[in-house]
Amino acid sequence: MALGPVEPANQPMGHEPRNQESRPVDFSFDAEVEAFREEVRGFFREELSEERTRGHFDPRDLTGFDEAFERAHQRRAGERGYLGISAPSEFGGGGRPLSFQAAFGFEAAYHEAPCVDTAMTLVGAVMQGFGSAEQKVEYLPQMIRGEILMSIGYSEATAGSDLSGIAMRARLLDDGFELEGTKTLVTGAHKAEVMCLIARTDPDVPTRQGSSLFLVDLSLPGVEIERRATLNGWTLCDVHFRGVHVERKALLGELHGGWQQMAAALTSERSQLFHVGWAARDVDDLIQHCRSHERGGRLLCEDPFVRRELSRLRVEVHVALRFAKRVIWLQDQGRIPGHEAATAKLYATELLQRVAATGSSILGPHAALARGAHLAPLGGRMGWARLERIHGTISVGSNELQRSAIAQMGLGMPRNA
Ligand SMILES: Cc1cc2nc3c(=O)[nH]c(=O)nc-3n(C[C@H](O)[C@H](O)[C@H](O)COP(=O)(O)OP(=O)(O)OC[C@H]3O[C@@H](n4cnc5c(N)ncnc54)[C@H](O)[C@@H]3O)c2cc1C
Repeated sequence: MALGPVEPANQPMGHEPRNQESRPVDFSFDAEVEAFREEVRGFFREELSEERTRGHFDPRDLTGFDEAFERAHQRRAGERGYLGISAPSEFGGGGRPLSFQAAFGFEAAYHEAPCVDTAMTLVGAVMQGFGSAEQKVEYLPQMIRGEILMSIGYSEATAGSDLSGIAMRARLLDDGFELEGTKTLVTGAHKAEVMCLIARTDPDVPTRQGSSLFLVDLSLPGVEIERRATLNGWTLCDVHFRGVHVERKALLGELHGGWQQMAAALTSERSQLFHVGWAARDVDDLIQHCRSHERGGRLLCEDPFVRRELSRLRVEVHVALRFAKRVIWLQDQGRIPGHEAATAKLYATELLQRVAATGSSILGPHAALARGAHLAPLGGRMGWARLERIHGTISVGSNELQRSAIAQMGLGMPRNA
């Protein structure tokens, strides 16, 4: 990723270092991807300028921005072709290798842009893999243009890591299905038009054989969305479906084939470069802060503890990038990463927590002040990160499950008893 040493002061990680010769290891993608990355950086700099974002911050939303800004931003990203970089060109996608998409993901996270959880990132894989021709024509172009927000409803009160516990029912009717049940911990449902969900279509057989995927319009009668506060100040949703009638065409893929389709879509999920992008940004911000702020009459960066810890974190970001790049490389070869993706996810999400903990230690007690508080160093970012960075180790498959996957697939060990 063309990541280099700390020099010079205004050169953040992930961006071209001025002193090329002292670059220890070259993490860059090939020249074409790097050129694309440069273009994307220009887009984000303009998009997230103070002028454009002023008045649009919303700490309750996990993007950090209000819905109006998120939608406008996604449309502009869509117009540039950034939301469907690797999607098929027949639906308006760019048809480019996944490394381009991964580079975009890194930059989106690094710039903290509200286009990480787009309709394409959340539902793109399942739609492309299993959508009917009619569904693809109806949804994919809108998703790629950034004109629609979507959410995924897999988790329930009785089903998280082990989704075989899902209780939501989809009763087969002559003219469609009737949905009954509640999805929980859903990201962004309060603003999404559509949810991709899994429900049991045959309660008399195990979930793996009797479940189906659906694309549900969230404005239908009987849908109720409840926003619930999370530890870090934003909200996730509980979504209740009470006798919701959907037409037959809402079925996504095969009747009773939802489990296998969902599993395939989950495996093809992200390379974790967005986690690395956030970590790289946090470390860069810490480095910049320590170079320009004093404690006890000397710059923070002159303190041996600070120097040691920041060097360690920078090395760890490089390690996280290596793991993520291995996943991208496998995907570009058309292979499905297994333990490699588990390793990348595990390392990057735990790194985010180490950065927040170390950053808070370096910045001292004021780091715990609320975001935006007068005396909060780095605008309160590290204190906020201590809470915010918890969820990455739980969502998209908890890290305990990733450890099991590494033991089984990577180390050839037997399944847990
Ligand atoms: C920020 C955030 C956003 C989310 N967004 C969505 C969303 O948009 N849509 C959606 O459907 N869901 C979403 N989720 C839910 C997420 O997928 C679940 O939280 C996750 O699958 C874990 O399920 P659970 O919370 O029920 O925990 P549980 O599955 O009950 O796990 C509890 C603990 O037990 C451990 N554990 C469970 N099974 C095993 C095992 N076999 N071996 C070892 N340890 C185990 C887990 O690692 C965890 O530490 C989101 C969650 C978060 C935190």
